[in-house]
Amino acid sequence: MTLTAKEYRPRRPQDSDYYSCVEDYFEPFMQIYDDRFSRDYGFWRPYIEKVICRYLDCGDLHQGFARVRCNDCGHEYLLSFSCKRRHFCPSCHQKRVVEFGEWLCMDVLKKIPHRHFVFSIPKILRRYFLYDRKLLAALSRSAWESLKVFMQQAVPEKEPIPGAVIAVQTFGDFLGFNPHCHILLTDGCFYGDKGMFRVAPPLELKKLEAIFRHKVFRLLLKRGRITEEMVRMLSAWRHSGFNIFCGNRISPKDDAAMENLARYIIRASFSQERMKYLRQEGTVVYRAKDGKDQKTFPAMEWLAAMCSHIPNRGEQMVRYYGYYSNVARGKRKAKGTDDVIPCILEPDGNVKALRKSWARLIQKIYEVEPLVCPKCKGTMRIISFIEDPQVIRDILTHLGLWLVRSRPPPKIHDPPNIEYAPSDDLAHAPHPQTDCYADPEYFWDDYIQS
Ligand SMILES: [Zn+2]
Ligand SMILES: [Zn+2]
Repeated sequence: MTLTAKEYRPRRPQDSDYYSCVEDYFEPFMQIYDDRFSRDYGFWRPYIEKVICRYLDCGDLHQGFARVRCNDCGHEYLLSFSCKRRHFCPSCHQKRVVEFGEWLCMDVLKKIPHRHFVFSIPKILRRYFLYDRKLLAALSRSAWESLKVFMQQAVPEKEPIPGAVIAVQTFGDFLGFNPHCHILLTDGCFYGDKGMFRVAPPLELKKLEAIFRHKVFRLLLKRGRITEEMVRMLSAWRHSGFNIFCGNRISPKDDAAMENLARYIIRASFSQERMKYLRQEGTVVYRAKDGKDQKTFPAMEWLAAMCSHIPNRGEQMVRYYGYYSNVARGKRKAKGTDDVIPCILEPDGNVKALRKSWARLIQKIYEVEPLVCPKCKGTMRIISFIEDPQVIRDILTHLGLWLVRSRPPPKIHDPPNIEYAPSDDLAHAPHPQTDCYADPEYFWDDYIQS
C-alpha cells in the first residue's frame, strides 16, 4: 500500500447547499409526502427513495472505491463510486449530458441541416402527465407524428423519411411540472437508399400546432382523461395554450451548435448554482435563469418539486424516430449503408470506443486528465474494486480517512481534518454492481474495466 491521504483527491459533494438540504430533510420528507405533497407533485414512487439514498452516497469513499495505479511509477489513489442517477445527482447528470451530446452527434445525427423544435401544452392538461407518466411517451409520439406528416408533404420525392430525436422534459420555471418535447429534427427528408437528403422549406407553424393539438386531445380522450366537452371548451379558447417553437436552421458544419443543443435537450431540471439553502429558516431560495426573479420554497416542498422530475427506473426520456429510429439505423447498418456505428446495436464495439473516450469526456467536464499520473504523467488504470465493508474500513482507517458518519441525525458533518486537493475530478468510476445502468435510451457501461 503506497497510498497516502494527501494523494487521495476526493470530490466533496457533501459541501454543497444542495447536499445539505437533501440530507437534512429527506427522512421527514418521505414520511409526510403522501399527506402533504402527493396532490401537487404526484404519487410517491418508491424508486425516489433509492435515488435519494444513492445520491447521498455518491462519491463517498465509505461506500467502496476503485484503486487506480500508475503503470509507470506505481503511484496510487482511490476513486469513489458514483450513483449515476438522472435529474437528482448534479454530478452524475452532468456527466451523462456531456456524453450524450457527443454520442448523439458522432453516432446518430447525420451531417445535414437540422432544426430545434419545442412543443408545449396548456397548463390545464399538464397534471394528467404528472399522475400518469406513461402519457409522456405518447406525448413524444404525438409530436413526432405531427412533424412527420408535415415534413413528408414539404418535399417532392417519393417515400421521404425525416428523422427526429425527441427528449421529453417535465420541468418549467422554478421546477413546476411542465411536460414538453425538445426535438432535433432533420430539416427535410431522406429518400431512396443512397442517403439522399432534400431540405424542406420552412413549416407553417400554426398548421403544425393545430395537428399537434388534435393529436393530444385524441390521446387524452382515448385514455379517458378528458371529455369531448372539455375539448370543445379548449378549442374555443383564443390562445389554445399549445405552443410550438421552431429554431433557425443549424448548418451541418456547425458541430458546436449541434452538440450544445444535444446537451440542452437532456439538461438537468435545476442548477445548483442558482439555489441557496437557508438552514436556519428551513427554506430554499431559487433564482431564475436571468437572475431577476426568485422563489422561496420550504425545504421539503423544494424536495417534492425536485422529485417530480426524476424519471422512473429505466424510463426512456429520449426517443428516436424515422430515419434516426433504432430500426432504421439497424437496417442501414446491416446493409452497410450507414457510415457510422449505431451504438445501440453493437454494444461491444461501442463500449470499446467509448472506453477510449472516457478520459476525454471527464476532461470536458472537469478539465483535468483523470487517468494521467499526477506524479510522472504516466497512464493510470483501475487495478481493483473494493466493496467489502471490512476492507473499505481497513484501508480508509489506514489512510486516516475513515469518518464515523451517522444519518440521521443530520447537521453533523464538520469538514474532516484531511488534506484534500481542491479538484473535483474522478468521481465517476462505474459501479461494478450498478443495478440501473442499462438505460435503454443511452448506454456506456463498463467502459473502464478491461
Ligand atoms: Zn506515475
Ligand atoms: Zn451521483
